[in-house]
Amino acid sequence: MVIVKDEMLVKGVVFCLESDLPGEAMLLLEDFRLAVNNAVRAGLHARITSRNALNKLAYKDFREQHPRMYAQHLVSAFEVAGGTLKNHRKLVRKGVTGRVPYVKRLMMKAENQAYKLDRKTGIIDLPIRAGCHVELKLVVSQYHRKYLDDTALSLGSLTVLPDRVIVAFRKYAPKPYTPESVISMDTNERSLDGVFVEGDGAKAVKAVFPDIAMIQQLHYDRRRRLQKKKAHDRRTMRRLCRMEGTREHRRIDYRLHQVANSVLKFAEERKSAIVLEDLKGFKSKTSKELNRRLSLWPRRKLHQIIEYKAQWKGVPVIKVDPRNSSRTCPICRRIKYSRMGAEFKCECGWCLDRHINASINLLQTAISKGMAGGLRFNPGAFQHDVMMILYEPAMAARSEPNGTSSIAGVT
Ligand SMILES: [Zn+2]
Repeated sequence: MVIVKDEMLVKGVVFCLESDLPGEAMLLLEDFRLAVNNAVRAGLHARITSRNALNKLAYKDFREQHPRMYAQHLVSAFEVAGGTLKNHRKLVRKGVTGRVPYVKRLMMKAENQAYKLDRKTGIIDLPIRAGCHVELKLVVSQYHRKYLDDTALSLGSLTVLPDRVIVAFRKYAPKPYTPESVISMDTNERSLDGVFVEGDGAKAVKAVFPDIAMIQQLHYDRRRRLQKKKAHDRRTMRRLCRMEGTREHRRIDYRLHQVANSVLKFAEERKSAIVLEDLKGFKSKTSKELNRRLSLWPRRKLHQIIEYKAQWKGVPVIKVDPRNSSRTCPICRRIKYSRMGAEFKCECGWCLDRHINASINLLQTAISKGMAGGLRFNPGAFQHDVMMILYEPAMAARSEPNGTSSIAGVT
């Protein structure tokens, strides 16, 4: 995950360990979790959420309760507790939960001064307490080498879990390049459909991912069945449904990253700007059933992934208001209010795939608002007989066995 903070980008990279976590480190994880949960309770009681306030309030007591822990780790426990408390406060304000938050997962976080990583050998030196350090040997693949060897990246925090660690790499956001071409895309349930414009030429581009909608449907059906079958045992039902949900998210997330990578690679090679519709406040006006089927989160997530990867690589992204983009004729600007089939047909003679037509309108909005630099586009130059495929499911063959590029909760 990349978070913008004064243009500083952070990316969490997951590493597996060559051997099991040493016993001392496991004890540290348990101690850390205990400290976090104690700090959460203390914070709730005193109604504070900031790390500094927690530190002031509880440091002395905690020092006595956790004499074995390295002081820096204790401060970092306050930070994790502060995050948990802030989340909790948000949920309470929304009226979602009244339960006392509790960190279940065995974990610890070390700030960058509190551990050492040898970027050549991939060995982490983690202090446990005075005079006691453990060494963690990371499994380093080609994917990981890219981050370890990039001198532009500095090290941020380290998150230690029982079976893996997450290292945060940081850098200042590069300045986006000046685009020489543009790729404009309409985001749909099963595909990104768009137009690629370079010089005077314009071609259709497509990234298709029908499997994502299929996975959503499959898991939805499974959850429905579970809800019926386990109706007598709500706790089990909820647990199983949650598991289904997690699995669904993982499977979809993996594919979305693949799609985003293909789009970014294409844009980077051609120095393109990327135009996307702004999905904020976008809701389908159809029945509840249809709303669920067309669930927006994969599309929102896809935009999020494309945007942060673009920011990391310095690819310019332009977001535009999608109003009427699927109904407007890019030639004569007539707006059609009647239902459409797969093709957009206008009285002026213009005829094009409905989704690609929408992407042309998004591009024209970007140009008319002066957001696309000096780039121009002439709908008449569109080549109706060419289609470039940026991504299709066959390209999703698993390629990186021990590295996914993003994980939540890392700063
Ligand atoms: Zn027309």
